[in-house]
This record gives sequence, C-alpha cells and structure tokens, in this order.
Amino acid sequence: MASILAHERSTTHERSTTHDVTNQPPPLVPYDASEDTALIEGLRREGAGWAEEGIRRLGLRAGSAQAQEWAELANRHEPELRTHDRYGNRVDEVEFHPSWHHLMRVAVGEGLAGAPWADGRPGAHVARTAGGLVWGQTDAGHGCPTSMTYAAIPALRRQPELAKVYEPLLTGREYDPELRVPSEKRGLLAGMGMTEKQGGSDVRTNTTAATPTAEPGVYTLRGHKWFTSAPMCDLFLVLAQAPDGLSCFLVPRVLPDGSRNTFRIQRLKDKLGNRSNASSEPEFDGTVAWLVGPEGQGVKTIIEMVNCTRLDCVMMSATLMRRTLVEAGHHVRHRSAFGARLVDQPLMRNVLADLALESDAATTLSLRLAGAADRAVRGDTDEAAFRRIATAVGKYWVTKRGPAFTAEALECLGGNGYVEESGMPRHYREAPLLSIWEGSGNVNALDVMRALRREPGSAQALFAELALAQGADARLDAALTRLKVQVAQTSEAGARRLVELMALTLQASLLVRHAPPAVADAFCATRLGGDWGHAFGTLPDTADLDTVLARALPDGA
Ligand SMILES: Cc1cc2nc3c(=O)[nH]c(=O)nc-3n(C[C@H](O)[C@H](O)[C@H](O)COP(=O)(O)OP(=O)(O)OC[C@H]3O[C@@H](n4cnc5c(N)ncnc54)[C@H](O)[C@@H]3O)c2cc1C
Repeated sequence: MASILAHERSTTHERSTTHDVTNQPPPLVPYDASEDTALIEGLRREGAGWAEEGIRRLGLRAGSAQAQEWAELANRHEPELRTHDRYGNRVDEVEFHPSWHHLMRVAVGEGLAGAPWADGRPGAHVARTAGGLVWGQTDAGHGCPTSMTYAAIPALRRQPELAKVYEPLLTGREYDPELRVPSEKRGLLAGMGMTEKQGGSDVRTNTTAATPTAEPGVYTLRGHKWFTSAPMCDLFLVLAQAPDGLSCFLVPRVLPDGSRNTFRIQRLKDKLGNRSNASSEPEFDGTVAWLVGPEGQGVKTIIEMVNCTRLDCVMMSATLMRRTLVEAGHHVRHRSAFGARLVDQPLMRNVLADLALESDAATTLSLRLAGAADRAVRGDTDEAAFRRIATAVGKYWVTKRGPAFTAEALECLGGNGYVEESGMPRHYREAPLLSIWEGSGNVNALDVMRALRREPGSAQALFAELALAQGADARLDAALTRLKVQVAQTSEAGARRLVELMALTLQASLLVRHAPPAVADAFCATRLGGDWGHAFGTLPDTADLDTVLARALPDGA
C-alpha cells in the first residue's frame, strides 16, 4: 500500500514538472499609468500642475485590473448593429458590451470629453490631454467619441443659438447613453460625418444634398456617408451640399418632438483594429439638420473640429507608445535568455532606450501642442499661429511612428507579443488608424505646405519656438539651418521630407530645453545627426542608455 502511494506521489510530481511555468513575467496588473516623468513634467510645464493629483489617481485607475479587463472585454465583444426591431420597425441601434459603457462613464466623468471648454482654469485643455495619455492606456476605441465630443464644441460655437442649447450638455461630466431628446438628457456625445464613398480627404466632392425648409436654418439631408464612427452619439456635425455650397450641419439622432431622425445605419465596418468602437455607414433621407456656420463655409467650420481631433491623434499615438513601452519594459525585466535577464543585455537595452526616446518625444510634443491649444483658446495669437502649423506637423509624424514603434515593442515580448492575450496585437492594430483618419499622412503634410503658403505667421511662430533652443546643440542648429533652406525650396512632392524634418527639429528642441542632457543628446545624435540605423535599437555607442532608461522605466530597467 505504501509503495502504491509513493508511486502515485511520484507520478503526480512528474506530471506537474512537465508543466512548471518558469521564466514568464507576472501580469502587469495593477500598474500606474501616470508614472511617466515626461508626462508629469509636461503637465506642469504647460500650465496644468494643478491637475497632477487627479492625473495620478486616473493613472492608477487606468492600470487597475478592473479597467484593463473592461478594455479587453470591450474589444473582444464587439458592438453589434440592430437595424430593425422584431416587428420590422427601423431602430438603427448599436449594442455595446457593458465594459464599453464603464470605460465611457469614467472617460466622460474625468473630463476627457467636452469638459475643458467649460473650465475657466488655464491649462484645462492640457489636463485633458494628460488624462487621455493615461486613461487611453486602457482602450483606444472609446477615445473616438470622447475626442469628437471635445472637438465638436469650437465648430458648434459658430452657431451660437445651437451652442447655447447643446454646449452645456456636451461639456458636462455625465455619461448618458440612452437615445432621447438631446436637450432632455444629462449629457451628450457628438460625432462627425464627412467622408463619403467617392472621397474622404477631398470632402468638396461630397454629394449629400441639403435642402432648405421653410424654417430658417433648418434643412433636410439626403445622401450616404461612408464612415461615421460612434453612431450611437446624440449629435453629428455633417457636411452636405447646400444651395451656396458645402456646409456644416448639426444632425441629432432624436428630434425635439421625441421622434427618431432618419439615420439609417446600413452596416458597421469590419475593421483592422479599433474594435471596441463602432464605425458605420449612415444614410440620410429627409434627415432634419440645422445649419452650423454660414452656408458654403462647411470646411472652414468643421476644420475647427478637425484641429482638435488631430491633437488627439498625436496624443493617442503617444499613449500607444507609452503603453507598449511599459509592457515591453516589464517583460524584459522578468524574462531571461542565454543566462541573463533580457533587460541586462546590451542590445535589448539599446532597443528599449531607442523606444523610450521616441515615446518621450511624442509625449512631450503632445503636451506642448495641448498647451498651445489651451493658450490659443484663451486668446494668445502667437500660440494660435504655432498651433496652426505644429498640430499638422505632429499629426503627420507622431502617428507615422506609431506602427513601427508598436511592432518593435511587441517584438520585445518575442512570441508572447504576437499572441492576443498579451494585449500587444490590439495596440499594434490600433496604431495605423491614427495616421489615416483626421487627414491621412499626405493630407497633413500638404496642410503644412498650405500653412506655409497662406499663413506665413504660422511658420514664423514655429521658427520662434525653435529659436528658443538655438545654440544648445550643434546638430539641432544644423537641422534648423537645413530646415530654413528646405522651407524656401520644397515642392509638393517633397512635403513629407520637409514635415519630417520640422517634426524632428521641434521634438529635439523640446527635449534640449526640457529633458535631461542624455535624452536630448541621444535624440539629436540619431534623429538629427544621422548617427542611427533604420530600425529601432540602433543608438550609437556614445548614447547613455542607462540614463535614458532610468528616466523612462524607473523600476529597475
Ligand atoms: C476606422 C475609421 C473610422 C473613421 N471614422 C470617420 C468618422 O467618424 N467620420 C468621418 O467623416 N470619417 C471617418 N473616417 C474616414 C477617414 O477620415 C478617411 O478614411 C480619411 O480621411 C481618408 O479618406 P479616404 O478614405 O476617402 O481616402 P482618400 O481621400 O481617397 O485618400 C487615399 C490616399 O490618398 C492620399 N491623398 C489624398 N489626397 C492626396 C493628394 N492631394 N496628394 C497626395 N496624396 C493624397 C491620402 O493621404 C490617402 O493616403 C474613418 C476612417 C476609419 C478607417
């Protein structure tokens, strides 16, 4: 009997040893999404130090097991379109997993939607951007409706009587997902409908028609939009052709009398990423719409919205970078190969440090752009001129860096990074979207060219900013000289090259002024001095990897 028990014990032991889990990192839960020196320093520098406590609280919440689970579930259980009810009536509703609503409730409650427009404190827009940088580390998808709600307000203000009704509800902190008469709700969300089948970049080709009704300022729309994200929003800013040309309209889902406006959601897009969010094709047919801004000035009106969503694209790319860098840092600290922890191996340190530089530069630029937006909104014309060009520059470059960055961070986890459970594939799939919507790469690069041509004050403001770092680094000085020549000579075909140099010069100037010398030096040596390969992880021997890593990943990297 004793020998049978002994045999069983040894068999159980052998069985378990075949599946001993070793050398796998523990889950990165909970973590503090606000533990980021570049973020906190930028927040203070750009005038929102008062928000630090709230950002730190939100950072802990973003990294909590609960919030990370919401993000995972909201992406696994994708939104579903219900076009009709059981009796055949059109309902055009999109159903979301409860986790989506949890994420939205926190985002709106923490002021990441329209709240800064109702907050008189200088730095309110910076605080929101910083909030996005931490809370966005949960799920990127729900950043879409919060961003559009934030961005709709300056455009809506072009029609003060509409803004008077809706702005207080768009700037509130209550998430109220039910479809009801907008003015009777506790809080509202806004979306945008510009893109049509025949053209998204060139919206002047829009064919959706707007016909005036007998009531001044009220029209009916007929047409089909090819992309309209977050279709469960309460209000949409929509472009359509009115008698005097392309114009901007406010389209509510529910009309003031409680009836549903015609907003037929034909289908939802089956997307590469951004899965928690719904992106739809709505059809308008006799849809009631209110004119926003003058007839014929639709682009001029809606560009106010696009300026804000472009800033958010920069912020969201920086968020994805930080999120995946933290995950990569965590993995390599806990994983060994060839007898040593990965984080202690020189080539892995080079990869991580290179990613850390990129992330630092992206976060620092996001907050600088948010600071410019904040001061511009409060009447600072120099900052408005800087914002005009620098936001397009940042949108072009930071979002372009996202896919390469997230791919490299994913690779730090080896095969684990390619597996959905790690979360890295989700972040990777999200990255290209940020350079597509709100003006794809070429469109933003050409927008910078347009600013140079038509608004010379914006170039002056950019060069004034760059001059603040002059003399601090020879490579930066040389880049500045090159940039001045290129600005004068560049043709349309060279726009990407020019805008890339602008972005790198701007990022370098910010790091030279505000980051530790080791960070600024490594950035200037590689991104401006050419002492760099084509992949991440090619910093030169002179780079001080330890200092760069100690700043970005202080917990033992
Ligand atoms: C997931 C998702 C959600 C979206 N949500 C919305 C939404 O809510 N509302 C909305 O209105 N739109 C939305 N869009 C649409 C998005 O804004 C457009 O896809 C984008 O603006 C590009 O337009 P397009 O797809 O028509 O491409 P096109 O305009 O056909 O452009 C194709 C390519 O040509 C380039 N290009 C264009 N013009 C030039 C030029 N003059 N010179 C050189 N290159 C040029 C572009 O950069 C792009 O790379 C969404 C898109 C996606 C993918």
